[in-house]
Amino acid sequence: MTWAATTDNLTPTNNYSYACNEPGDGGVGARVCRTDNAQVSYYADSAGDNQLEAGDFDTLVNMMSAEYQPTDLSVSVTFSPSFSGSSETDIIYQEQGVPGSNEGITWCNDAAGTFECDQQYVRIEGAGSYTPGLTCHETGHAVGLLHGQNASPALGNQNSALGCMKKETSYGDRLGANNKENINGAY
Ligand SMILES: [Zn+2]
Repeated sequence: MTWAATTDNLTPTNNYSYACNEPGDGGVGARVCRTDNAQVSYYADSAGDNQLEAGDFDTLVNMMSAEYQPTDLSVSVTFSPSFSGSSETDIIYQEQGVPGSNEGITWCNDAAGTFECDQQYVRIEGAGSYTPGLTCHETGHAVGLLHGQNASPALGNQNSALGCMKKETSYGDRLGANNKENINGAY
């Protein structure tokens, strides 16, 4: 493979080598973790306090097909998630308020190895925050992608090479070549 990435922004890097942690519901203090393998199953809450509206679910599914399926990851939506055992559903998406000024947060609830996680939660606020750009961003964290300041070499957090991993994402931000190269190098 030809390495064409602008920067290494998939944990661990020379500027970010924190072990994966399990911060508990809500994710305050979460560190970025890799997902545990290239088979990425995901589920979106369809009932209860954290359910996604239909349009938000469609945004998520379309983004996964357009941005992550073309990588070396194999992504699949499930409607019967697993929350225990050895093959938990990898990413659980919820719509709920997020502390502080962020509109989204991602955390691990089952660390598996130093840098890897068996199941991660993505929580994004309602009222228009479930955009292609932000769902791409939080999913990026769930597979180990980092902000520019944690990349090696470090980039400004709004550097365009970071695609949807810019810290402040725009509506239509896409995964882009750098993130795709890093994913394909890791999985
Ligand atoms: Zn982020």
